Amino acid sequence: MRSDSSVVDDRVQHGVRLLHDPLRNKGTAFTAEERDALGLRGLLPPAVQSMETQVLRVMGNLARKDSDLERYIFLAGLQDRNETLFYRVVMEHLPEMMPLIYTPTVGAACQHFGQIFRRPRGLFVTADDFGHVRSVLRNWPHRDVRIIVVTDGERILGLGDLGANGMGIAVGKLALYTACAGIHPSQCLPVTIDVGTENENLRKDPLYVGTRRSRLRGEDYDALVDEFLAATREVFPRAVVQLEDFANINAFRLLRKYNEQYSLFDDDIQGTGSVVLAGLLAAMRVTGNSLSDNRFLFLGAGEAGIGIADLIVASLVSDGMDAEEARRRCFFVDSTGLVVNSRENLAEHKRPFAHDIEFVSTLEEAAEVIRPTAVIGVSGVPGSFTEKLLREMAEHHPHPIVFALSNPTAKSECTASQAYEWTGGRAIFASGSPFPPVDYQGKTFVPGQANNAYIFPGVGLGAIVSNSNRVTDEMFFIAARELASMVSEHDLGLGRLFPSLSRIREVSARIAVSVAAHAFERGYAQAAEPDDLVQTVQDFMFVPEYASFA
Ligand code: NAD
Repeated sequence: MRSDSSVVDDRVQHGVRLLHDPLRNKGTAFTAEERDALGLRGLLPPAVQSMETQVLRVMGNLARKDSDLERYIFLAGLQDRNETLFYRVVMEHLPEMMPLIYTPTVGAACQHFGQIFRRPRGLFVTADDFGHVRSVLRNWPHRDVRIIVVTDGERILGLGDLGANGMGIAVGKLALYTACAGIHPSQCLPVTIDVGTENENLRKDPLYVGTRRSRLRGEDYDALVDEFLAATREVFPRAVVQLEDFANINAFRLLRKYNEQYSLFDDDIQGTGSVVLAGLLAAMRVTGNSLSDNRFLFLGAGEAGIGIADLIVASLVSDGMDAEEARRRCFFVDSTGLVVNSRENLAEHKRPFAHDIEFVSTLEEAAEVIRPTAVIGVSGVPGSFTEKLLREMAEHHPHPIVFALSNPTAKSECTASQAYEWTGGRAIFASGSPFPPVDYQGKTFVPGQANNAYIFPGVGLGAIVSNSNRVTDEMFFIAARELASMVSEHDLGLGRLFPSLSRIREVSARIAVSVAAHAFERGYAQAAEPDDLVQTVQDFMFVPEYASFA
C-alpha cells in the first residue's frame, strides 16, 4: 500500500515552504531529527505529536463548529494545510465525514462558494481560454494526473445553475476518490469549465468568482469542450475523465459523443445506474424473483432515471432478453406525465422508453395502469410517493420496492418511515440521502443509501490501474454485480441493500479488480497485465500515513 509521497515531486522542500506544502506537511508531527534536517527548528511549537493526537484535535475542533457549512470550511482548511491528516480524519470517520465533504453540505458550499472562498483548488477553464486550453492545463503543478472530474456547473446536485461555484462538486468528488479508492491526492484534478451562468443572482453578487455572462451555447460551447478533452489527452495522457453535473441538454450528448473516444464517463448517468442496479439485484434476494419479473415505474426521466433504466436493460439483455422487450419493463412519468409514444417533442433520451399506451398525467394514474413492482423516485419532488400509491403497491406485491432517491433529504419522494408504515413493514426501501433507522412494529429497519460513492471510485480505480482507454457501460454493470454480491444476509435482514459504508475501501478494491480484469480481457487496457491484479490494486491505493524524512 502506498503511504509515501512517491508520486509527488521528490525535491523535498525545506523550512517554511515545507510547512506550506499540503502533500508533505506533517505539522507538529515532524520529529526532532526531521526538524533539524529540514530547517524547521523554531518554526514549530516544541511538542512533537503523533497523528493520533492531531486527529483528536481536529475532531474536537470540528465538534465545536455550530453548522455543517462551518465544518466544511474547517475541513477544507485542513485539506489545504495537511492532506495526509485530512484523509486520515476522513477515512477514520467516513460515515460522519461523507455528508460534510460531499452531499448534502457540499451543496451549501457551492451556493456560498464566493463567500467562503479562501484558497483556489482545481483548474478553471473559461471561454476566453479557447485556443489556449493546453497552456492552462500545463499550469497545473502535478504531471501524473490520473483522474479528472470536470463540471460546467449548470446542474449542481438539485440546485440548478451555479456557474463557476460548481468547483466545490469536483473537489468533493475527488476527495471521495482518494478516501474511498485510494487515488493519490496529487493524481486528482478538479476542473470547472466556466462558460457563464444563467443564474442572475450570482451574476449580480459582487463575491461571485466566475465569469459574469450568459452561458456559452452551441458550436462555441462544443468547440471549447472538444479542445479541453483533446488537451487533457495531450497533457495528462493517463487520466480518466469523469463528467459531473452537466445539464441534461449536454450530459447525454457529451457522453454519447466522447464515450468511445476517451476514457470518460458520466457519474450522474452511469454511476447512478450502477448503484441502483446493485440495490435492485440485492432486492431480488428478498423478493425471491428475478429482474425480469419486475415492472419499474420511474418518477423523473432525467440523467439518473435514464441511467438506471439503461443499466436495468443491460442487465436483462445479459440474461438473454431482447433489448426492446427489456425496455418494455421500464416506464417513466416526467413533469408532463407518462412518457408515451403519442407525446410530441419528447427529448431524445426519453424516446427509447416511450411505449404505445395511453397517456395519463399523474404517477398514481400511471401506477394503476402499470401495476409496478418497483417505484423509483428521481424527480426532486418531495412527497410524491403518496400513501395511496404505496398502500396500493403493497396490496398487489408482498415486497414492493420503493426507492426514493431524490436529494437532499428534504426532496425525497417519501421518508423511510412512511415507506415502512404504508406497506405494513414490507417495503424494500432505499434512499438517495441517508435516513436514520426506523422502528416499526417491534422491528428496527436500517434503510440503505444508494450512494454513488459505492461505485465511481472503484470503477475509476480499475480504469486507472489497467490504464483503460475506455470506460464502458459494461464496467458499470460489472461494478453493480460486484457491489450486490457484497451485501450480506445480515445487511438484508436489517433492510439494508448495500454494504456498510465502513467497508467502502474493500468495495472499491473489489470493483477495481473486476473492472481492470474486464479491461484486460477486452483489450482496452494499455498497462501490462500484472500477475496478481488484486495485489496491484492494493499496492496502488494511497494510505494516509506520514512519510519519513529522516
Ligand atoms: P435531472 O434534472 O436530470 O432530471 C429530473 C427529472 O425529474 C426530469 O426528467 C424532470 O422532468 C423530472 N421532474 C421534475 N419535476 C417533476 C414532476 N413534478 N413530476 C415528475 N417528474 C418531474 O436530475 P437527475 O440527475 O436525474 O436527478 C434527479 C434526482 O435524483 C435528484 O434529486 C438527485 O439528487 C437524485 N439522484 C440520486 C442519486 C442517488 O441516489 N445515488 C444519484 C443521482 C441523482
